[in-house]
Amino acid sequence: MSEQKKDLFEGGLEQYSTFDVLVDNLLIFLWIFTGGYVCWLFMPVIGWIYLGFGLIMVLGILRVIVCQNCYYHGKKCHSAWGKLSAMYCRQGDYYKFGAGIIGPVILTFWGSMALVPLILGVISIIQNFSLFKIVMMVTFFIIVLLSAVILRKNTCSKCKMKYLCPGSASK
Ligand code: SF4
Repeated sequence: MSEQKKDLFEGGLEQYSTFDVLVDNLLIFLWIFTGGYVCWLFMPVIGWIYLGFGLIMVLGILRVIVCQNCYYHGKKCHSAWGKLSAMYCRQGDYYKFGAGIIGPVILTFWGSMALVPLILGVISIIQNFSLFKIVMMVTFFIIVLLSAVILRKNTCSKCKMKYLCPGSASK
């Protein structure tokens, strides 16, 4: 019997609430700025590179290569970035969402945005111990956990793309 073609989650939200959007954006930008600061404590230039790379990817490149083929392109999704994407490009085909190299690119990007500050933070503490650095690392870790795990499970459970998205936390 042939595998059933994956399709949209009909029970998914047409658009997310403003509260969802604000919380999602707040956590993502806290992630990028605290991650940048933890890297900055290790070496200022790396902190600026992390911050710049993170903002260019999140506000630019990912909105084109990822959101173009999303059902929420032009719509108020969990982050409202679908609307940002519509400023850059036209809607593509959501059956092609995350296809080919895009899925691994997303995973590698967010994985490195989480791991790089954690690794550099540990090295920085070993090199020059300070309680403040530990507080910053713990803060960063909690923000990543909230954004990438706890909040994401809830967001994905209401998403129309959850069956088509390779990174969905709710199947
Ligand atoms: S839900 Fe879709 S439009 Fe919104 S950020 Fe994710 S991929 Fe982009």
